[in-house]
Amino acid sequence: MAKSDSRNHRIPEPADVAVVGAGAAGLHAALEAAEAGAGVVVISRKPLTETASFRAQGGLAAAIAADDSPARHAEDTLIAGRGLCYPAAVEVLVGEAPAAVELLMRRGVAFDRTVGGELSLGLEGGHSARRIVHAGGAETGRALTSRLAELAARHERIEVLEGASALALWSAGDRCHGVLTDRGPVAAAATILATGGGAALWERTTNPRGAIGAGSILAHEAGADLADLELCQFHPTAISLPGRPLDGWLITEAVRGEGALLLGADGERFTDELAPRDQVTAAILDRMAADGTTSVDLDLRPVPMARFPTIARTLGTLGIDPEADLVPVAPAAHYLIGGVHTDLDGRSSLPGLLAVGEAACTGLHGANRLASNSLSECFVFGSRAAVAALAGPGADPSPPAPDPDPAFPAPAEETRSAVWDLAGPVREPERLERLLGDPYPLARLIAASALARPESRGVHRRTDRPLVDPALDLRHTVVGAGEEVRIDRWPPQERPAAAPGLTQA
Ligand SMILES: Cc1cc2nc3c(=O)[nH]c(=O)nc-3n(C[C@H](O)[C@H](O)[C@H](O)COP(=O)(O)OP(=O)(O)OC[C@H]3O[C@@H](n4cnc5c(N)ncnc54)[C@H](O)[C@@H]3O)c2cc1C
Repeated sequence: MAKSDSRNHRIPEPADVAVVGAGAAGLHAALEAAEAGAGVVVISRKPLTETASFRAQGGLAAAIAADDSPARHAEDTLIAGRGLCYPAAVEVLVGEAPAAVELLMRRGVAFDRTVGGELSLGLEGGHSARRIVHAGGAETGRALTSRLAELAARHERIEVLEGASALALWSAGDRCHGVLTDRGPVAAAATILATGGGAALWERTTNPRGAIGAGSILAHEAGADLADLELCQFHPTAISLPGRPLDGWLITEAVRGEGALLLGADGERFTDELAPRDQVTAAILDRMAADGTTSVDLDLRPVPMARFPTIARTLGTLGIDPEADLVPVAPAAHYLIGGVHTDLDGRSSLPGLLAVGEAACTGLHGANRLASNSLSECFVFGSRAAVAALAGPGADPSPPAPDPDPAFPAPAEETRSAVWDLAGPVREPERLERLLGDPYPLARLIAASALARPESRGVHRRTDRPLVDPALDLRHTVVGAGEEVRIDRWPPQERPAAAPGLTQA
């Protein structure tokens, strides 16, 4: 294992695996690699409570019920993905998610159960069956990540560098040799980016402020391909109380699975509350425009709120009684579908560099993520990336000298408001072009990718091209080393064997 010297600067003695990020994907990949015998260094900038994973409410999707099947889960994922899902990634996710749930239970995660002792399964938009495994009502993320963090902290082969930031990848362009952090270089045979998404680049967001797409920027600067950056999912029901502290706080769509309704200014329903997210978001935006309002109402009165104690408590702090009052909600940026382009084992186009979780883009979510597929993705693809990381060549005994002065400038507030304003849920090419000059590289790449997709599909809506262009089915935007965007069709692929941890259910 690598060691720290007295000034807390790391000596570049290579670890087997460096993992950047300690949310669900990073913690899981680190545990999987360490359990397979690797020495692992985890670099984590923020405390656990500031990860998206900790905030996850609804749960994780897995075809477990007797009347459900992976094929049905696949069909729902493909329908939600609007002709853009990479089919092999879907097959991997739906096939291995049930074993991932088993693995988490073996690790001591206590999921909610029915009175009969079965796993309690929630229903969310776009799912044709109850298949959302949850914990603590709507505290799934907290339950999962707290347990995984506890296991990682006491694992003898895992060293966690808490409060350390990755500033750049250690690479001269041919392969990745590790990570350059604000505590010095961390050399590693394989580096896994698990830095989460970038939805906090949009001013109105459900995400923690640190979700600024760091993994995409680190990977792009090292020359790895990014994909589908124009695709950001806007969650339909984030609290809308402009200027108040909980503005943008997410109310899980699991409440709609239990009967919550969406009402316009006339108090009437205007959409199918359990349609996929892109459809519900579009219906809300259209309703707001027609009503001349900045929000619609979420009616929680039909919902047994005992199942969602955190939501009831949080609304209580705002003086909202969910059993009597309506909750003002509006869409907010929620999940960056695009990210570091990887194969089905998490490998990026740069040798030695892998990515998992929201930082990665396998094409699984297509143009619209099916609810609760992302936590399952963290575990299914996290296991695969751990195996792939260990299967790669060992560390280069004489890596190039690391950049002595790496820097990672954070996005300015102006960038966050420009991204919301110019690349929000409804886009116009002239406004996207204005974002091409933004100082934050990911803002520019998002705009360039949105301009390169001249259609409306899933979460990406362009006023000048309101329809799907069938010629762009299964076509992905990809950004290589420069800032030019190309459109790729990814070749079909056989589903590779599952990771050992996911075969022993
Ligand atoms: C409010 C909310 C509710 C959600 N509910 C659900 C749900 O019910 N079901 C579902 O499937 N999905 C849900 N999602 C989405 C899901 O939670 C995320 O996609 C998933 O948790 C991402 O996990 P991750 O490990 O990839 O990233 P994260 O959990 O965001 O973790 C990223 C990690 O990277 C670290 N990091 C970032 N940059 C650096 C750097 N430069 N150096 C060092 N460390 C760095 C962070 O500190 C953090 O530790 C929800 C998201 C939100 C915001």
